[in-house]
Amino acid sequence: MGATEEIERIVLDPALSVPDKGERVIAFLAQSVDRGVPAAVECLMETADSRVAEFVAVYLQLIHGAREEKTRVAERLRGAGEVAKAAARLVPWMPDSLIDAFIQDHVAAPDPESPASSVVFTIAMCRPELLRPYVDRVESGSMKRSLLSGAPDEFADSLLERWREEQDLEDLWTLAMIRTSHAADLIESVRDEVDDPVDWDWLMPLAGRLPDTGKPSGFHPAFMGFMADAGESAHVMGGDPGGDVPLCADCKRPTERILTLSAEELPHDLSRDPSFYWFTCECAEVDRITVRFTPAGTEVYFNPQGPSSGESRLVPGERSLVLEPHPNQNGVSLPALPRTQHQVGGLPRWPSPEVHPICPVCGNFMPFLTAIDGGPTPFGRMGFEELLFGFWCDSCAVSATQTQY
Ligand SMILES: [Zn+2]
Ligand SMILES: [Zn+2]
Repeated sequence: MGATEEIERIVLDPALSVPDKGERVIAFLAQSVDRGVPAAVECLMETADSRVAEFVAVYLQLIHGAREEKTRVAERLRGAGEVAKAAARLVPWMPDSLIDAFIQDHVAAPDPESPASSVVFTIAMCRPELLRPYVDRVESGSMKRSLLSGAPDEFADSLLERWREEQDLEDLWTLAMIRTSHAADLIESVRDEVDDPVDWDWLMPLAGRLPDTGKPSGFHPAFMGFMADAGESAHVMGGDPGGDVPLCADCKRPTERILTLSAEELPHDLSRDPSFYWFTCECAEVDRITVRFTPAGTEVYFNPQGPSSGESRLVPGERSLVLEPHPNQNGVSLPALPRTQHQVGGLPRWPSPEVHPICPVCGNFMPFLTAIDGGPTPFGRMGFEELLFGFWCDSCAVSATQTQY
C-alpha cells in the first residue's frame, strides 16, 4: 500500500478519534524513510481531502528543514481548492514569492472562510511585513493583531497620542505589541504616567525591555525549535541530566529535565548551558522552578532538591532540539494559540501578558530564553500539555521555568 492510501485509511477511519488519527499519522510518517518527508510529500501532492492534507501538514510542521519539499508541496496545495488550507502549516519555509501569491489570492477575494485566508492568517504572524501593504484589506481582528509586530513608528506614535487623550490601557498594550525599539522607547517614556506600576512591569518586557534594568527582555536572534533524534543538535531535550534536580515540595517526586541549551552553539553569548525542568506530578504546589547552576552542581531555589529519577517521560526519551531562524525577528504579536512551536531566543508569546520572574540571586527581572510546547512530537506524546516558558539570568546562571494556567 502506498503512503497516501495508508494515511487516508487512518484519517477516514470512523472508529478513530481526531487525536488518535493525529497520533497515528505522525507515528506512520515518523517511521517512514528520511523522517517521513518523501511519504508526506507524496500524500500532499496527491490528496484531494482537506482533512488528510491537514494531518500530514501538521507532521511536516514538526520536522526541521526540508524547505524545498515544503515549498513544492505548498505550491501544489495553493492551486488545489479546499486542501490549500494545509499550506498554512508551511509558511515559515515559503519563499517570499509564494507568500505573496497567497496574499494576492486572499486580496482578490477576501473571504474569511477561504483556504487562502487560513494561510494568510499564518503569514500575518510569521511575515507581517509582507502583508502590511494590504492592511486596509485585512478585516480579521487576529490578523490585525499580528500586523502590530514591527509596525511603523508613526503608527506607534499615534497609539501613544490616543492613550494620552483617552487613558485606555488597551492602547499601551497594543503599542507594546509592536515590539520595535521605537515602540519600547515610547512605553519607557510613560513610566511615571501609568497609574498602576504593575502595568508597566508587564508592558515594558512585552515591548522588549526589562522594567528595572532596561536590558532586553529576550535574547536575540529568535529561533524556531524542532524536536529531533538525540545528537542531531547539541541542545539536549529530556534524558537523564544526572546529579540533583528540583523535587516537588508536596510529593517529593523528582522533576525532569526538559531542555539543556548549549551556550557554545548559540549566538546569544551565554556564559553557561541553561537547563529547564518541569514537574512529573500534578500537585501544582508552585508554578515555577528556579535553579542556579554552579561548578558544584545545581542549587534549587524555593523547592527541595534530590537525585534525578533517570527517567525521561516528559520528553519521550532523550532527544535534541534543532534550531532554525525564526521568520519574525520582532516577535509574534498574536497571543499563543493552544499549540505553538518551540522557540529559543526572541520575545515570549504569552497566552496573556505576564510579569517576568525575578532572579533570586541578583533581584532583577529575568529575560525570556525559551518556550517549549507540550504538543505532539515525531517521537510520541509529551508527558505534559502546557506551554512552558524558560527564563535565564546569565550573570547569576539562574533558570526559571514556568507555565501560565
Ligand atoms: Zn508533586
Ligand atoms: Zn540574577
